[in-house]
Amino acid sequence: PLSTADLIEEHRICVCVRKRPLNKKELSIRDLDVITIPSKDVVMVHEPKQKVDLTRYLENQTFRFDYAFDDSTTNEMVYRFTARPLVETIFERGMATCFAYGQTGSGKTHTMGGDFSGKSQDCSKGIYALAARDVFVMLKKPCYKKLDLQVYSTFFEIYSGKVFDLLNGKAKLRVLEDGKQQVQVVGLQERDVRCTEDVLKLIEVGNSCRTSGQTSANAHSSRSHAVFQIILRRKGKMHGKFSLIDLAGNERGADTSSADRQTRLEGAEINKSLLALKECIRALGRNKPHTPFRASKLTQVLRDSFIGENSRTCMIATISPGMTSCENTLNTLRYANRWA
Ligand code: ADP
Ligand code: MG
Repeated sequence: PLSTADLIEEHRICVCVRKRPLNKKELSIRDLDVITIPSKDVVMVHEPKQKVDLTRYLENQTFRFDYAFDDSTTNEMVYRFTARPLVETIFERGMATCFAYGQTGSGKTHTMGGDFSGKSQDCSKGIYALAARDVFVMLKKPCYKKLDLQVYSTFFEIYSGKVFDLLNGKAKLRVLEDGKQQVQVVGLQERDVRCTEDVLKLIEVGNSCRTSGQTSANAHSSRSHAVFQIILRRKGKMHGKFSLIDLAGNERGADTSSADRQTRLEGAEINKSLLALKECIRALGRNKPHTPFRASKLTQVLRDSFIGENSRTCMIATISPGMTSCENTLNTLRYANRWA
């Protein structure tokens, strides 16, 4: 039977998986789909239905999550079951976090930020924008209207253990921790936002800042965590905070043998931060003495979102459907499976 602590934890952490469709590149190399979502909370990894020969490629493996979204699911639907329930939390003086976790190319940015791939960038359908939209809707409800809350946004990036402000030309920022373990990112721009359009503009500014000067947008973003926050303040004091995070790609196998020292170090830093993140989420709201907040810049900066009675989090594990990705996909499913 479940204990009270288990029930609270269950309520605080939601873990789901999103499968994307096979993309053009995968179709062109005739990659085969090895992922099936047989019901709304089950993911199966299996050998391809279209057998190429008699070799067995994969043992069938089944994973269960709070929700499993198949490749026909829209961002709006994913949002409704993941980040949407957390919007209330920040109005009730709580801290909310929503992560996208998965290998590069599996759909993290598509889910969180929207579509930045083509010429006409559209961030209005990503979870950042959808959450902002609902914050402004909630703000008009009489019970919250009377609180006279102000809304602010920040957008920053953590790259190789360093913090850069995406709303201020990638200014490098210092992180300070005071005696009471309050963490502060010194000089982080907190922009006043009045409507969804204001937020969309910031996302565009931040995103172009993130990728500027890079030869490949994905090469850079696969190695950095992007953190977008919506902060509610009342008379200047923090009322609630929603952090939405597009994590660095979790595939790091090749890094460990890379000839380039910088690449190896970056890879090690990413592994470390993703492991620390898992520990911190598991300790959510419990204020356990050995929670490794300091083990990475990511968890250190998010510390205040993991502690406290009213902290909730949601993990969206994004997976590629193809057989060529199955090793990374299994790693992603195993990482996310621990809480389900
Ligand atoms: P990541 O951020 O995890 O590296 P992206 O979000 O950039 O991956 O996705 C890689 C490519 O796949 C992009 O061109 C994106 O538009 C596309 N894509 C990702 N998820 C989906 C989806 N659910 N439906 C359709 N296209 C998708
Ligand atoms: Mg991305």
